[in-house]
Amino acid sequence: MDAFATPFVQGRLRGEFVSVTIQTECAHCSRPMEIEIDSDLNYHVGEEDCTPIIFNPDVNLLELEEDSIIDAF
Ligand SMILES: [Zn+2]
Repeated sequence: MDAFATPFVQGRLRGEFVSVTIQTECAHCSRPMEIEIDSDLNYHVGEEDCTPIIFNPDVNLLELEEDSIIDAF
């Protein structure tokens, strides 16, 4: 499941604030990174000098062909 879609969708379905924390590493230098994403699509990176490129997929909900928004993300 997509790391951005999960807290957004679960937050809407439950009607509450939800967040996920992703522990990963830089694809360039392999330095560990921790990224928190919440149900309002805000994100916070744990490491102060780390600026990863984060994008939000452009999904047209009115012309959704997938079974769910999660599949579209
Ligand atoms: Zn790096």
